[in-house]
Amino acid sequence: MNQELLEYIRNNIRGLILESEPLRNFTSFRVGGAAELLVIPDDSLELEKAYRFLKGKGIPVTVVGGGSNVIAPDGGIEGVVLCTRSRKARVEFRENGMVGVDAGVPLDDFIRGAAHRGWGGLGALAGIPGTVGGALVMNAGTGEGNVSDRLENVRVLTGGDEVRVLDKSQLVFGYRTSTFRNTGWLILSADFQLIPSEREETLEEIDRVWKSRAEKFPLEWPSAGSVFKRPEGDYAGRLIEEAGCKGMRVGGARVSEKHGNFIVNDGGATSSDILELIDRVRDRVRKKYGINLELEQIPLLSKPRVKRD
Ligand SMILES: Cc1cc2nc3c(=O)[nH]c(=O)nc-3n(C[C@H](O)[C@H](O)[C@H](O)COP(=O)(O)OP(=O)(O)OC[C@H]3O[C@@H](n4cnc5c(N)ncnc54)[C@H](O)[C@@H]3O)c2cc1C
Repeated sequence: MNQELLEYIRNNIRGLILESEPLRNFTSFRVGGAAELLVIPDDSLELEKAYRFLKGKGIPVTVVGGGSNVIAPDGGIEGVVLCTRSRKARVEFRENGMVGVDAGVPLDDFIRGAAHRGWGGLGALAGIPGTVGGALVMNAGTGEGNVSDRLENVRVLTGGDEVRVLDKSQLVFGYRTSTFRNTGWLILSADFQLIPSEREETLEEIDRVWKSRAEKFPLEWPSAGSVFKRPEGDYAGRLIEEAGCKGMRVGGARVSEKHGNFIVNDGGATSSDILELIDRVRDRVRKKYGINLELEQIPLLSKPRVKRD
């Protein structure tokens, strides 16, 4: 990284700045080589400033939140990885259950913090790792609801370097997808309209959801959650199990015995191991059922394209 740029970032962006930082430290799969430079801006204002500056200089930028749905390449990532997840990211409780949340706030912290103040509506999403920004990109959720359910609006930095506040009605949310998957806009913050709820009841609901997730999912191993999306009218986990893939392994990557749609890193997996195992599982399911499973997880690029809009 050019020393002048590095100095500029150090002097002008409030946050954590790490050179040649292994991405395995910032992804739930615990894989990935070094980010040339990893920047964790303190909050959404610093995030916006950093993104504008880097883009203006033509430096490739990769955005991650909690890194809980991505597969980081073994060879690392060129340019700057902007990680939004910061302890200084802010949640602002306004009147009547309206809450403004920075993109880098962990989703579970937001849900739990709201519950403590007597606001609910997103309790079923407790335990989903990652940030509010990442959750909006993926429209994270469960059979009980999605993060977009209580959304009012999202503040983004568009490709044209314009900050816009988009009402939910201007956005499209689907099953593990959203407008943001295609636009590449940077999510800065979002407003949610929560509903009044009994503090103790919501906290109990959150505990119940956590327990049930721990029973169903192999949370004791690093993973990035469900590997594939649910195919129409079926479950990826069922197809994978019945195609005999449970326990299949490539290097340190293994198809979980507990849940067929989880690949876990059971020690020393590389992202190539994971990608190879994904291909093998997909092949087996295709041969047995003629169904082409669609990947939910996002492999990050080693040489990200520089966007010029
Ligand atoms: C154990 C485990 C269980 C899981 N269970 C569930 C579940 O029940 N339901 C579910 O839906 N998911 C689940 N997941 C997947 C994952 O937690 C969600 O998709 C989560 O919302 C991703 O958030 P993140 O901040 O980690 O995003 P990341 O993985 O960091 O990023 C995901 C995508 O969003 C982009 N992105 C992130 N932040 C921004 C931003 N501010 N602006 C623009 N783009 C951004 C990234 O570039 C990337 O393309 C699970 C994962 C794990 C590890």
